[in-house]
Amino acid sequence: AEAVIDIINARTGRSLDLATEQLQGGIGRRINAIRDAILSVLAEMEAGIDFGDEIEGDDPVNAWGEALRVDVEAPLDRLIAAYEHNHYFRDGIRMAIIGRPNVGKSSLLNRLTRKERAIVTEIPGTTRDTIEEMINIKGLPVILIDTAGLHNTIQQIEMIGIERTHATIASADIVLFVVDSSQGIQDDDDFIYRQLGGTKHIVVMNKVDLNDHMELPHGWADSAVVRVSALKGTHIEALKEGIFDMGVGQLPNFSTSALVPNLRQAQGLKSTQRFISQARAVIHQDPELAAVDLKAAMGTLDRILGLSFNEEMLDRIFNQFCIGK
Ligand code: GDP
Repeated sequence: AEAVIDIINARTGRSLDLATEQLQGGIGRRINAIRDAILSVLAEMEAGIDFGDEIEGDDPVNAWGEALRVDVEAPLDRLIAAYEHNHYFRDGIRMAIIGRPNVGKSSLLNRLTRKERAIVTEIPGTTRDTIEEMINIKGLPVILIDTAGLHNTIQQIEMIGIERTHATIASADIVLFVVDSSQGIQDDDDFIYRQLGGTKHIVVMNKVDLNDHMELPHGWADSAVVRVSALKGTHIEALKEGIFDMGVGQLPNFSTSALVPNLRQAQGLKSTQRFISQARAVIHQDPELAAVDLKAAMGTLDRILGLSFNEEMLDRIFNQFCIGK
Protein backbone atom coordinates (compact mmCIF):
# COMPACT_ATOMS: atom_id res chain seq x y z
CA ALA A 1 0.00 0.00 0.00
CA GLU A 2 2.81 2.38 0.86
CA ALA A 3 4.53 1.69 -2.46
CA VAL A 4 1.30 2.49 -4.30
CA ILE A 5 0.96 5.75 -2.36
CA ASP A 6 4.51 6.65 -3.32
CA ILE A 7 3.78 5.95 -6.98
CA ILE A 8 0.68 8.15 -6.88
CA ASN A 9 2.60 10.91 -5.17
CA ALA A 10 5.78 10.59 -7.22
CA ARG A 11 6.87 14.06 -8.21
CA THR A 12 9.76 13.34 -10.54
CA GLY A 13 11.08 10.45 -12.62
CA ARG A 14 13.54 9.63 -9.89
CA SER A 15 10.80 9.56 -7.22
CA LEU A 16 8.91 7.14 -9.45
CA ASP A 17 11.96 4.87 -9.77
CA LEU A 18 12.23 4.69 -5.99
CA ALA A 19 8.54 3.90 -5.60
CA THR A 20 8.62 1.24 -8.30
CA GLU A 21 11.57 -0.43 -6.63
CA GLN A 22 9.61 -0.46 -3.40
CA LEU A 23 6.55 -1.94 -5.13
CA GLN A 24 8.68 -4.78 -6.42
CA GLY A 25 9.40 -5.64 -2.84
CA GLY A 26 13.12 -4.88 -2.78
CA ILE A 27 12.98 -3.30 0.66
CA GLY A 28 10.85 -6.13 2.00
CA ARG A 29 13.38 -8.70 0.82
CA ARG A 30 16.27 -6.87 2.48
CA ILE A 31 14.38 -6.54 5.74
CA ASN A 32 13.31 -10.17 5.62
CA ALA A 33 16.94 -11.23 5.29
CA ILE A 34 17.80 -9.18 8.38
CA ARG A 35 14.90 -10.75 10.24
CA ASP A 36 16.07 -14.25 9.26
CA ALA A 37 19.55 -13.49 10.54
CA ILE A 38 18.17 -12.40 13.93
CA LEU A 39 15.93 -15.44 14.03
CA SER A 40 18.78 -17.87 13.49
CA VAL A 41 20.89 -16.25 16.22
CA LEU A 42 17.87 -16.34 18.52
CA ALA A 43 17.23 -20.01 17.77
CA GLU A 44 20.81 -20.92 18.63
CA MET A 45 20.73 -18.77 21.73
CA GLU A 46 17.52 -20.30 22.97
CA ALA A 47 19.06 -23.70 22.58
CA GLY A 48 22.12 -22.45 24.45
CA ILE A 49 20.09 -20.83 27.18
CA ASP A 50 17.86 -23.84 27.72
CA PHE A 51 20.69 -26.33 27.79
CA GLY A 52 23.29 -23.97 29.19
CA ASP A 53 25.45 -26.67 30.65
CA GLU A 54 26.15 -28.22 27.30
CA ILE A 55 27.42 -25.03 25.72
CA GLU A 56 31.02 -24.56 26.71
CA GLY A 57 33.27 -21.56 26.46
CA ASP A 58 32.84 -18.22 24.79
CA ASP A 59 32.87 -19.35 21.16
CA PRO A 60 29.16 -19.53 20.40
CA VAL A 61 28.62 -16.17 22.08
CA ASN A 62 31.32 -14.62 19.95
CA ALA A 63 29.78 -16.17 16.87
CA TRP A 64 26.35 -14.75 17.74
CA GLY A 65 27.83 -11.31 18.32
CA GLU A 66 29.64 -11.49 15.01
CA ALA A 67 26.52 -12.68 13.16
CA LEU A 68 24.56 -9.78 14.65
CA ARG A 69 27.23 -7.33 13.60
CA VAL A 70 27.70 -8.57 10.05
CA ASP A 71 24.26 -9.88 9.06
CA VAL A 72 22.06 -7.54 11.07
CA GLU A 73 23.74 -4.30 12.06
CA ALA A 74 25.64 -3.70 8.84
CA PRO A 75 22.64 -4.11 6.50
CA LEU A 76 20.49 -2.09 8.92
CA ASP A 77 23.04 0.71 8.82
CA ARG A 78 23.05 0.60 5.01
CA LEU A 79 19.26 0.86 4.78
CA ILE A 80 19.11 3.71 7.27
CA ALA A 81 21.89 5.53 5.41
CA ALA A 82 19.97 5.02 2.16
CA TYR A 83 16.99 6.74 3.79
CA GLU A 84 19.08 9.64 5.09
CA HIS A 85 20.73 10.15 1.72
CA ASN A 86 17.88 9.56 -0.69
CA HIS A 87 14.58 10.40 0.88
CA TYR A 88 14.74 13.91 -0.54
CA PHE A 89 14.27 12.41 -4.00
CA ARG A 90 10.94 10.99 -2.89
CA ASP A 91 9.80 13.59 -0.36
CA GLY A 92 11.35 16.63 -2.00
CA ILE A 93 13.19 19.45 -0.34
CA ARG A 94 11.27 22.44 0.88
CA MET A 95 12.56 25.76 -0.31
CA ALA A 96 11.55 29.28 0.68
CA ILE A 97 12.24 32.47 -1.23
CA ILE A 98 12.61 35.40 1.12
CA GLY A 99 13.74 39.00 0.86
CA ARG A 100 12.55 42.58 1.09
CA PRO A 101 9.62 43.73 -1.06
CA ASN A 102 10.51 44.42 -4.70
CA VAL A 103 13.86 42.64 -4.75
CA GLY A 104 12.37 40.30 -7.35
CA LYS A 105 11.10 37.26 -5.43
CA SER A 106 7.96 36.81 -7.55
CA SER A 107 9.91 37.30 -10.76
CA LEU A 108 12.42 34.69 -9.62
CA LEU A 109 9.66 32.29 -8.67
CA ASN A 110 8.12 32.67 -12.12
CA ARG A 111 11.49 32.17 -13.75
CA LEU A 112 12.20 29.01 -11.74
CA THR A 113 8.80 27.46 -12.29
CA ARG A 114 8.27 28.60 -15.87
CA LYS A 115 8.72 25.23 -17.54
CA GLU A 116 6.83 23.39 -14.84
CA ARG A 117 3.62 25.39 -14.92
CA ALA A 118 1.71 22.35 -16.14
CA ILE A 119 2.39 20.38 -12.97
CA VAL A 120 1.58 23.09 -10.48
CA THR A 121 -0.80 21.32 -8.16
CA GLU A 122 -3.73 22.65 -6.27
CA ILE A 123 -4.78 20.45 -3.40
CA PRO A 124 -8.54 20.01 -3.65
CA GLY A 125 -10.76 21.22 -0.85
CA THR A 126 -8.29 23.70 0.50
CA THR A 127 -7.84 27.40 0.00
CA ARG A 128 -5.37 28.81 -2.45
CA ASP A 129 -3.03 29.39 0.47
CA THR A 130 -1.87 25.83 0.07
CA ILE A 131 -1.09 25.96 -3.63
CA GLU A 132 2.13 24.07 -3.89
CA GLU A 133 4.61 24.77 -6.63
CA MET A 134 7.43 22.49 -7.50
CA ILE A 135 10.55 22.63 -9.59
CA ASN A 136 12.17 19.43 -10.82
CA ILE A 137 15.94 19.83 -10.63
CA LYS A 138 17.68 16.72 -11.99
CA GLY A 139 14.99 14.49 -10.48
CA LEU A 140 15.01 16.30 -7.15
CA PRO A 141 11.57 17.68 -6.31
CA VAL A 142 12.03 21.18 -4.91
CA ILE A 143 8.83 22.35 -3.28
CA LEU A 144 8.40 26.07 -2.97
CA ILE A 145 6.78 26.99 0.30
CA ASP A 146 4.65 29.98 1.06
CA THR A 147 4.31 30.80 -2.61
CA ALA A 148 0.72 31.98 -2.26
CA GLY A 149 2.07 34.60 0.11
CA LEU A 150 4.74 35.44 -2.43
CA HIS A 151 2.21 36.17 -5.13
CA ASN A 152 0.71 38.75 -2.86
CA THR A 153 3.92 40.50 -1.97
CA ILE A 154 3.41 43.07 -4.67
CA GLN A 155 0.50 44.42 -2.68
CA GLN A 156 2.37 44.18 0.59
CA ILE A 157 3.93 47.53 1.24
CA GLU A 158 4.78 46.92 4.88
CA MET A 159 7.98 45.23 5.98
CA ILE A 160 7.98 41.49 6.18
CA GLY A 161 6.78 40.52 9.64
CA ILE A 162 9.45 39.05 11.85
CA GLU A 163 7.33 36.08 12.86
CA ARG A 164 6.38 35.29 9.31
CA THR A 165 10.01 35.36 8.26
CA HIS A 166 10.95 33.14 11.18
CA ALA A 167 8.21 30.62 10.46
CA THR A 168 9.07 30.48 6.77
CA ILE A 169 12.77 29.95 7.45
CA ALA A 170 12.06 27.32 10.10
CA SER A 171 9.90 25.25 7.76
CA ALA A 172 12.41 25.28 4.89
CA ASP A 173 15.24 22.86 4.17
CA ILE A 174 16.85 25.52 2.06
CA VAL A 175 16.30 29.27 1.68
CA LEU A 176 16.85 31.53 -1.31
CA PHE A 177 17.57 34.94 0.15
CA VAL A 178 17.06 37.49 -2.60
CA VAL A 179 18.75 40.90 -2.54
CA ASP A 180 18.59 43.69 -5.08
CA SER A 181 21.96 44.38 -6.75
CA SER A 182 20.77 47.74 -8.02
CA GLN A 183 20.08 48.99 -4.50
CA GLY A 184 22.90 47.44 -2.50
CA ILE A 185 22.48 45.86 0.92
CA GLN A 186 20.07 47.72 3.18
CA ASP A 187 19.49 47.42 6.94
CA ASP A 188 16.40 45.31 6.28
CA ASP A 189 18.49 42.85 4.23
CA ASP A 190 20.96 42.54 7.06
CA PHE A 191 18.11 42.01 9.48
CA ILE A 192 16.71 39.17 7.39
CA TYR A 193 20.19 37.70 6.91
CA ARG A 194 20.66 37.44 10.65
CA GLN A 195 17.38 35.50 10.93
CA LEU A 196 18.84 32.75 8.74
CA GLY A 197 21.02 31.36 11.53
CA GLY A 198 22.28 27.94 10.52
CA THR A 199 19.69 27.35 7.80
CA LYS A 200 21.12 26.26 4.45
CA HIS A 201 20.78 29.19 2.13
CA ILE A 202 21.89 30.81 -1.08
CA VAL A 203 22.17 34.58 -1.36
CA VAL A 204 20.62 35.43 -4.73
CA MET A 205 21.94 38.76 -5.98
CA ASN A 206 19.15 39.63 -8.37
CA LYS A 207 18.97 42.34 -11.03
CA VAL A 208 22.58 41.89 -12.19
CA ASP A 209 21.41 43.37 -15.49
CA LEU A 210 21.32 46.70 -13.64
CA ASN A 211 24.53 46.25 -11.62
CA ASP A 212 26.86 43.27 -11.56
CA HIS A 213 29.52 44.78 -9.31
CA MET A 214 27.67 44.83 -6.03
CA GLU A 215 29.71 43.54 -3.08
CA LEU A 216 28.24 41.73 -0.11
CA PRO A 217 29.06 42.64 3.51
CA HIS A 218 32.15 40.86 4.95
CA GLY A 219 29.97 39.13 7.52
CA TRP A 220 28.22 37.24 4.71
CA ALA A 221 31.40 35.71 3.34
CA ASP A 222 30.46 32.13 4.29
CA SER A 223 27.25 32.15 2.27
CA ALA A 224 26.87 30.64 -1.18
CA VAL A 225 26.13 33.39 -3.69
CA VAL A 226 24.61 33.33 -7.17
CA ARG A 227 24.20 36.44 -9.30
CA VAL A 228 21.09 36.34 -11.47
CA SER A 229 18.68 38.43 -13.40
CA ALA A 230 15.17 37.14 -12.92
CA LEU A 231 14.00 39.58 -15.55
CA LYS A 232 16.42 38.49 -18.29
CA GLY A 233 16.80 34.89 -17.16
CA THR A 234 20.54 35.20 -16.58
CA HIS A 235 22.27 32.41 -14.58
CA ILE A 236 19.03 30.70 -13.64
CA GLU A 237 20.59 27.33 -14.52
CA ALA A 238 23.56 28.08 -12.25
CA LEU A 239 21.10 28.86 -9.48
CA LYS A 240 19.32 25.54 -10.03
CA GLU A 241 22.67 23.73 -9.84
CA GLY A 242 23.40 25.58 -6.62
CA ILE A 243 20.05 24.52 -5.16
CA PHE A 244 20.66 20.88 -6.11
CA ASP A 245 24.17 20.88 -4.64
CA MET A 246 23.05 22.51 -1.45
CA GLY A 247 20.04 20.21 -1.14
CA VAL A 248 21.63 16.84 -1.80
CA GLY A 249 25.04 17.28 -3.42
CA GLN A 250 26.97 17.18 -0.16
CA LEU A 251 25.33 13.99 0.97
CA PRO A 252 27.71 11.06 0.56
CA ASN A 253 26.63 8.37 -1.92
CA PHE A 254 23.29 9.99 -2.43
CA SER A 255 22.54 7.98 -5.53
CA THR A 256 24.19 4.62 -5.02
CA SER A 257 21.14 2.76 -3.82
CA ALA A 258 17.71 2.58 -5.33
CA LEU A 259 16.43 0.76 -2.24
CA VAL A 260 15.24 3.51 0.02
CA PRO A 261 12.97 2.94 3.00
CA ASN A 262 10.20 5.43 3.64
CA LEU A 263 9.92 7.44 6.85
CA ARG A 264 7.88 4.83 8.72
CA GLN A 265 10.23 2.06 7.72
CA ALA A 266 13.30 4.13 8.57
CA GLN A 267 11.93 4.88 12.03
CA GLY A 268 11.26 1.18 12.58
CA LEU A 269 14.76 0.30 11.38
CA LYS A 270 16.23 2.77 13.83
CA SER A 271 14.45 1.13 16.77
CA THR A 272 15.62 -2.25 15.50
CA GLN A 273 19.14 -0.86 15.43
CA ARG A 274 18.83 0.26 19.07
CA PHE A 275 17.62 -3.16 20.23
CA ILE A 276 20.43 -4.89 18.37
CA SER A 277 23.09 -2.69 19.89
CA GLN A 278 21.61 -3.26 23.36
CA ALA A 279 21.63 -6.99 22.71
CA ARG A 280 25.25 -6.94 21.61
CA ALA A 281 26.24 -4.93 24.67
CA VAL A 282 24.95 -7.57 27.10
CA ILE A 283 25.29 -10.78 25.13
CA HIS A 284 28.42 -11.93 26.96
CA GLN A 285 27.23 -11.19 30.48
CA ASP A 286 23.58 -12.01 30.10
CA PRO A 287 22.46 -13.89 26.99
CA GLU A 288 18.92 -14.16 28.29
CA LEU A 289 18.62 -10.39 28.43
CA ALA A 290 20.11 -10.18 24.95
CA ALA A 291 17.47 -12.62 23.72
CA VAL A 292 14.75 -10.29 25.03
CA ASP A 293 16.24 -7.41 23.00
CA LEU A 294 16.48 -9.59 19.92
CA LYS A 295 12.83 -10.54 20.22
CA ALA A 296 11.97 -6.85 20.51
CA ALA A 297 14.06 -6.19 17.40
CA MET A 298 12.13 -8.91 15.55
CA GLY A 299 8.90 -7.26 16.68
CA THR A 300 9.85 -3.93 15.11
CA LEU A 301 10.79 -5.67 11.85
CA ASP A 302 7.49 -7.57 11.87
CA ARG A 303 5.65 -4.27 12.07
CA ILE A 304 7.65 -2.84 9.16
CA LEU A 305 6.92 -5.95 7.09
CA GLY A 306 3.25 -5.95 8.06
CA LEU A 307 3.56 -9.38 9.71
CA SER A 308 2.10 -7.77 12.79
CA PHE A 309 0.12 -4.57 12.79
CA ASN A 310 -2.37 -2.49 14.70
CA GLU A 311 -5.30 -0.27 13.76
CA GLU A 312 -3.38 2.94 14.28
CA MET A 313 -0.65 1.92 11.90
CA LEU A 314 -3.15 0.94 9.21
CA ASP A 315 -5.01 4.21 9.70
CA ARG A 316 -1.84 6.14 9.30
CA ILE A 317 -0.90 4.34 6.10
CA PHE A 318 -4.30 4.49 4.45
CA ASN A 319 -4.91 8.10 5.43
CA GLN A 320 -2.19 8.96 2.97
CA PHE A 321 -4.49 7.96 0.14
CA CYS A 322 -6.30 11.09 -0.96
CA ILE A 323 -10.00 10.70 -1.67
CA GLY A 324 -10.39 10.91 -5.41
CA LYS A 325 -7.08 9.32 -6.23
P1 GDP B 1 9.03 40.94 -5.05
O1 GDP B 1 8.25 41.99 -4.34
O2 GDP B 1 10.29 40.63 -4.29
O3 GDP B 1 8.27 39.70 -5.35
O4 GDP B 1 9.56 41.59 -6.42
P2 GDP B 1 8.96 41.44 -7.90
O5 GDP B 1 9.28 40.13 -8.47
O6 GDP B 1 7.54 41.83 -7.87
O7 GDP B 1 9.82 42.51 -8.66
C1 GDP B 1 9.80 43.86 -8.31
C2 GDP B 1 10.20 44.69 -9.52
O8 GDP B 1 11.55 44.39 -9.88
C3 GDP B 1 9.37 44.39 -10.75
O9 GDP B 1 9.13 45.59 -11.42
C4 GDP B 1 10.25 43.47 -11.56
O10 GDP B 1 9.99 43.55 -12.94
C5 GDP B 1 11.61 44.01 -11.23
N1 GDP B 1 12.65 42.99 -11.39
C6 GDP B 1 12.63 41.72 -10.89
N2 GDP B 1 13.76 41.07 -11.22
C7 GDP B 1 14.49 41.92 -11.97
C8 GDP B 1 15.77 41.81 -12.62
O11 GDP B 1 16.45 40.79 -12.59
N3 GDP B 1 16.21 42.92 -13.28
C9 GDP B 1 15.49 44.07 -13.34
N4 GDP B 1 16.00 45.08 -14.03
N5 GDP B 1 14.28 44.19 -12.75
C10 GDP B 1 13.80 43.14 -12.07
